[in-house]
Amino acid sequence: MPSAAPAAQSPARKALIKMGLVRDIDLALHLPLRYEDETRITPLAQARDGSTVQIEATVTTSEVQLRPRRQLLVQVDDGTGTCELRFFSFYPSHLKTLAVGARLRFRGEVRGGFWGRQMLHPAFRAASGELPRALTPVYPTVNGLPQAYLRRAIVTALQRVDLPETVAPDLPPLPLGPGLWQPGRSAMTLREALQFLHHPPPDVPLATLEDHSHPAWQRLKAEELLAQQISQLQSKRARDHLRAPVLAIQTAAEGGDLPTLLRAALPFGLTGAQERVCAEIAADLARGVPMHRLLQGDVGSGKTVVAALSALVAIDAGWQCALMAPTEILAEQHFGKLVGWLEPLLAPRGLRVAWLAGAQKKKERASMLALVESGEAALVVGTHAVIQEQVRFARLGLAVIDEQHRFGVAQRLALRKKLAASQLEPHLLMMSATPIPRTLAMSYYADLDVSTIDELPPGRTPVVTKLIADSRKDEVVARIAAQVAAGRQVYWVCPLIEESEALDLSNATATHAELSEALPGVLVGLLHSRMPVAEKRAVMELFTSGAMGVLVSTTVIEVGVDVPNASLMVIEHAERFGLSQLHQLRGRVGRGAAASACVLLYAPNESGRVGETAKERLRAMAETSDGFEIARRDLEIRGPGEFLGARQSGAPLLRFADLQTDTLLLDWAREAAPVLLDRHPALAERHVARWLGGKADYLKA
Ligand code: ADP
Ligand code: MG
Repeated sequence: MPSAAPAAQSPARKALIKMGLVRDIDLALHLPLRYEDETRITPLAQARDGSTVQIEATVTTSEVQLRPRRQLLVQVDDGTGTCELRFFSFYPSHLKTLAVGARLRFRGEVRGGFWGRQMLHPAFRAASGELPRALTPVYPTVNGLPQAYLRRAIVTALQRVDLPETVAPDLPPLPLGPGLWQPGRSAMTLREALQFLHHPPPDVPLATLEDHSHPAWQRLKAEELLAQQISQLQSKRARDHLRAPVLAIQTAAEGGDLPTLLRAALPFGLTGAQERVCAEIAADLARGVPMHRLLQGDVGSGKTVVAALSALVAIDAGWQCALMAPTEILAEQHFGKLVGWLEPLLAPRGLRVAWLAGAQKKKERASMLALVESGEAALVVGTHAVIQEQVRFARLGLAVIDEQHRFGVAQRLALRKKLAASQLEPHLLMMSATPIPRTLAMSYYADLDVSTIDELPPGRTPVVTKLIADSRKDEVVARIAAQVAAGRQVYWVCPLIEESEALDLSNATATHAELSEALPGVLVGLLHSRMPVAEKRAVMELFTSGAMGVLVSTTVIEVGVDVPNASLMVIEHAERFGLSQLHQLRGRVGRGAAASACVLLYAPNESGRVGETAKERLRAMAETSDGFEIARRDLEIRGPGEFLGARQSGAPLLRFADLQTDTLLLDWAREAAPVLLDRHPALAERHVARWLGGKADYLKA
């Protein structure tokens, strides 16, 4: 532990703590972004134009000029040539150091102009002392934490830190070529690897350091991935010691058990994929250990009915189920559907489906809460309201979270606690339409079990996606008219304008007015997030019932809305949307048997162009409708940080390993984690503490 007394913290020390650089090991693992070569002095005569060099020279003139702007101009001479140094910001102390006659080392980019060589704002230091023998590290830092301070702190920490090897020699070998680091088979210790990366010798090929392919980097990345895998395995195993209700079919009642009754009542048969995931879930529920299962399936793959069947398993066993959705509209759709499916089966048993949402009349809410508390509500559907404190479940056996990426760790924890009094935890089923790419599933989600619906219900026609320039809006409007004339319905989505919700709204309002005028005789509705809930509900009802031909909305319809008769989705300013958002929106159509289309209207920006990543997104949309492929490309475009969203907020992301390039290391870490944990539990413990410190808890929710 650092020795500094917390009472008198310097700003730099505070900045260190803020960056999580608290223990010596944290500093030792804070690795450079890049390096500067201060090991050589270049004679000015040999300094190439545009190169970054270190020179050692004597100040010949030094003066402050006021025009054209205040600046310090310094001339230096190293015997082979001269150079002019310019500083636009400087302190009185600079003037003293840069006085005529001073001999100093300067480091910066040389520009050779008509007026001779120049350096802008070079770094400088006294010319005394030997040249360093290693490259100078440049660390990631924040305001108020100077490189020099950070470098000193890291050097001290490296000397002090205790670094026993934690990667046991009997772990499986890495599936990599010769010359690369192997556990137990390499001469390079962790200390040597760190020493090397902080202070590499000047002859090392810089490219292998910068792209993290050097064996020393490989070793650290492998260790980092191993820590992550162990930590997730630990939380998974810890969960195996917890108890959950055993939810297995009980009834031999007339006509069969509840799930069987629902299957018989459904107007369709389940797909093979739905059957398979239902069986996976049922097996978990019967185990008496809390399930933490992620159910992923593309938009429209039919997750809701799987949730309903799972709920019925719980209910049949005499327990309650909660289903939580991120928006009121979505929760309401679920409620409508589930009431239709379940109430006929529940009513004979004296059970009901309850509704809980933020915007609810006091009286209604009170009666719903009473139903939940008495256990009469076998299923509770709602928004975040479901996890509020006043909601007391009699016997919560299963909690289902739809669009799980919209919820955070805290909410998941709150749900788990809803059964705390009885020493049991409820089972957890998380659903997501955004499939998690394999590498992410294997790393950040390694503690979850995953079920995948990889098949769409039969009879769906693929959605044709068209990219159309904004200037051809008229054609799109004609297309809308034709669809509506054929009895179909249309979504028109206006983009979210991040800076201003008001602008966003005025945009949608204007579009609504335009379309109403352009489509006489068609009922055009408007839906946006600021509308009162009752109004939203009324609009949705008109659209769901088929009375409304066109629904103009902001992205509120993004998730879950299910209107099979809708056959055309128009997305305005599609270039402003994220890839998975576009995919989700497109999934709102093509749910019935009618041929469906998605039109992505794009508009060039002021400079007449569509940005590169926006182009990539639109291209991906036109090229594929496979949710997994979309997710993979999305990860490629955005990186895991954004992709993970709420799950990881506050949790440590991988700092060094890159899931795109380090899949072999990830495979190794997955294989090695259980081995280390089983054969060398103390080493495993130490390894996780070293890499994750106190942060491992975030990953366990
Ligand atoms: P998502 O996975 O996106 O939540 P939904 O559960 O909303 O998808 O299902 C989309 C539509 O498909 C719904 O209208 C649902 O009733 C219907 N559906 C679900 N499973 C099947 C099936 N096996 N055969 C036909 N239609 C189905
Ligand atoms: Mg859904």
